[in-house]
Amino acid sequence: MDNVSSYTDIEAFNDLRNCVICPRACHVNREKSHSGYCKTDASFNISSICIHTGEEPVISGPHGICNVFFSHCNLQCIYCQNYQISQNGTKISNYGTIDKITEEIINFLDKGCKSVGFVSASHMVPQMVMIINSLHRWNRYPTIIYNSNGYDSVETLRRLEGIVDVYLPDFKYADNSIGLEFSNARNYTDVAISALKEMYRQMGAKVITDETDTAVRGLIIRHLVLPGYVENSKNVLRKIAGELSPKVSISLMSQYHPMGKAIGSTRLGRPISAEEYNSVCDEMEKLGFVNGWIQDLDSNTEYLPDFECEHPFERSA
Ligand code: SF4
Repeated sequence: MDNVSSYTDIEAFNDLRNCVICPRACHVNREKSHSGYCKTDASFNISSICIHTGEEPVISGPHGICNVFFSHCNLQCIYCQNYQISQNGTKISNYGTIDKITEEIINFLDKGCKSVGFVSASHMVPQMVMIINSLHRWNRYPTIIYNSNGYDSVETLRRLEGIVDVYLPDFKYADNSIGLEFSNARNYTDVAISALKEMYRQMGAKVITDETDTAVRGLIIRHLVLPGYVENSKNVLRKIAGELSPKVSISLMSQYHPMGKAIGSTRLGRPISAEEYNSVCDEMEKLGFVNGWIQDLDSNTEYLPDFECEHPFERSA
């Protein structure tokens, strides 16, 4: 059967041979090595495929979302809650052939999931496209959620127009220096603003939902409030309001909990306080954001995954 996507498997594979998939622009041949910043090759590099019911209500839907978690990342955030799989030295599980991966996803779709989320996909876009094309060959057309850290290439995003249904990016820092300190990306803010503008160009501000209140098209920007960085959070919201629109849907997250290298850190070694969170929520209201979700403050351990378990999100299910 033919590919139905406008981004074919052959094009996707070719893109891995001189990799500029993400803003790191390593120009390495991933068919032959994993020597780029993300240390992944041309294989599928998947750590987990599982149902997640703890995303925003419109993302999880009534039966949960089938999330495909890629290994490694093009950012190396020192506090990453997925550090077991996101650090670029970690072992990568072998999920086998494209048929096996597709069957596994279809298994979850048959259990009622309407959407497939590709998590930390910024460095794995060609492989993501091959999986989507494979689902289409099997006559399955779930809603495709692109769940990224915001450090995305505009060129790559342009190729995803008409393929991705819902963009779910983070916008982490309003200041490049914080991105360098915490995520090893000296131009995070500039890159993320350009990426968000491209997503907004494709989707606009309105999130379209189906009869079960599950998102089928749109843009939702996530922001995780960090302890001691309230001004950063406020500036993130100001930039979204100013450069995009206050009509964009925001998912404000309070779930920060010290993980990975942040454990014991003097700067990030604690959860956020109620005072910090309320101050960011007040700014959100002041700027006129009315669409989106504000996470409860007491959820800072509720959403922590354990990728050593077969069901990493069992405790939030
Ligand atoms: S996807 Fe990986 S190899 Fe390609 S440019 Fe980004 S970090 Fe480098």
